[in-house]
Amino acid sequence: MDVVEGLSSRWPEDVETEVDELEKPAGDLDMLKEVEIKDKPIIADLKRLQELMNSTQQGSSQLTNLVKQWEYMQNDAVRLLREELKNLNKQREETEAEAKEPKIIESNEPENLPVFDETDEEFETVAYWKQKALSLEKVLEASTERERRLMEKLNESLKTMESQQAPVKELNQSLERAEGFLHFILQSAPILMGHQDKDLRNLFIYNKYPSLREQDILGKTDVEIFKGGGVKESQDFKKEVLEKGKAAKREITFTTDLFGSKTFLIYVEPVYNKANEKIGINYIGMDVTDQVLKREKMAKLREDNAARKAMESELNKTIHVTEETMRAKQILAMMSNEIRSPLSKVMGMAEILSTEKLDKEQRQMLNVMIFSGDLVLHLINNILDLSKIESGVMKLEATKFRPREVVKHVLQAAASLKKALTLEGNISDDVPIEVVGDVLRIRQILTNLISNAIKFTHEGKVGIKLQVISEPSFASHNALTAQEQNGLTETSVWICCDVYDTGIGIPENAIPCLFKKYMQESDDHAGKYGGTGLGLAICKQLVELMGGQLTVTSRINEGSTFTFILPYKVATSDDYSDDQDDFSDMAGGPSIRTSR
Ligand code: ADP
Repeated sequence: MDVVEGLSSRWPEDVETEVDELEKPAGDLDMLKEVEIKDKPIIADLKRLQELMNSTQQGSSQLTNLVKQWEYMQNDAVRLLREELKNLNKQREETEAEAKEPKIIESNEPENLPVFDETDEEFETVAYWKQKALSLEKVLEASTERERRLMEKLNESLKTMESQQAPVKELNQSLERAEGFLHFILQSAPILMGHQDKDLRNLFIYNKYPSLREQDILGKTDVEIFKGGGVKESQDFKKEVLEKGKAAKREITFTTDLFGSKTFLIYVEPVYNKANEKIGINYIGMDVTDQVLKREKMAKLREDNAARKAMESELNKTIHVTEETMRAKQILAMMSNEIRSPLSKVMGMAEILSTEKLDKEQRQMLNVMIFSGDLVLHLINNILDLSKIESGVMKLEATKFRPREVVKHVLQAAASLKKALTLEGNISDDVPIEVVGDVLRIRQILTNLISNAIKFTHEGKVGIKLQVISEPSFASHNALTAQEQNGLTETSVWICCDVYDTGIGIPENAIPCLFKKYMQESDDHAGKYGGTGLGLAICKQLVELMGGQLTVTSRINEGSTFTFILPYKVATSDDYSDDQDDFSDMAGGPSIRTSR
């Protein structure tokens, strides 16, 4: 029973309890009455079990204990037997003495005492002797009865003697009951325990898996018995414990055909013989699959909770920042609006003043005033545009317009900047004469891009190219939604517009930030060319709002090309007005090449 030496070394109280039970064998009989002990699980190799008990220190001390108990009970039985024998001898002696000396009988039973009285006058009569004979017969009967009773008592004593002679049997019964109790405990406990030799071959195993027979287990290593995940890890762990000579525990998940996927907490300890040499290991495996699952679930819940909390606080921060930003933007938009009205009035007055007769100095001052005013107005308009786009209140118009005319007007306006540059307009044949879209915004984008092109080009040419392209890959659901919002329920044509120049170009590392707000290529640049860094950000947002895309390619000192692609609904023939593009007024201005 105490084969697993390590068990007893860790649970000494249990061992003592077992010894106590042996001292009062009948006491716990009822304890197992109600309990059904199923077929005994295999306890493999009982002979080896016995050897282990003999060869390990703990095992032999347990045996000594049992022997001492047995000797004590035997001595006790012998003492009782001796006492009983003494009593019986005494009784026998007394009986014999009684038989020899009637007086003793007399003293015991005086009423039955037969008396021979020679003085009795009937002494010699038949009646006298008859009576005497009867009386003697009664005494004899009483004596016989007494003898029978004594015999009965003797037999009883002999039986008691026999029963007292069976302490070994009782001891065996106690052991059986204790073993049954142990089986009961092991059967209900979710554990697997065993002993393996130095080569980790199973010599003893309390097998919870009845499908394994003794021959499948004995003398075999775990790797030979089980196939699947975790088996090798478990074997290596046992090897490690044996090598280090130090008990350890580990959680190992097995996936085997025998019991599927299960996690065991395995406790392994080295076993030593009396010469303190390692002779193998004891192990206990406890099925903790459910606990592990629960633990993992809890960990996941905790993780999710932490992630949710982090997200919540991040969200709160973002909401706070967004609220602050929105407030700041509202204030900026409000202030811009407030500044724009009086500034427009000042500009109007300045325009009127410019028509008056002024001396040279006054005109110069007025020009500076108008130029600065224009700049401020431009900045304010940009800020207001941005704040409208970002707050989602920018509404797009869907109106009919002629792309060629838009290009022509933008180039004409650019020509008025009076720079010695060639201005070009290239419109391919397939561009529809009329399309539907927000012409004001498209003009704003074109103007912005062409102004930049002229600003950053000192010689060579600047131009606009329009051509129809097939539906681009970025055209997603969002793009369609944007068009639907803008009243474009059906996209009939995608037009690509390039605004190119042969100017200073943009360094490669500046391109990723080019469309960000308030971003300029460098501070030097800002100082030299002015501007606020808002124009391209607005262009990009407007293009995207219309479901399109704005990109740039550029090479330093060779020039840049800004390309925006937009979807348009083509105006139906009913919508079509028969106006022709009139390029006649562009003589001396930019060249517009068109196949029409
Ligand atoms: P800004 O109003 O200051 O011109 P933009 O957003 O329109 O702001 O332009 C941002 C920066 O991009 C400019 O300052 C300039 O450095 C660079 N840039 C824009 N267009 C061109 C171009 N055609 N050639 C070279 N650099 C350009």
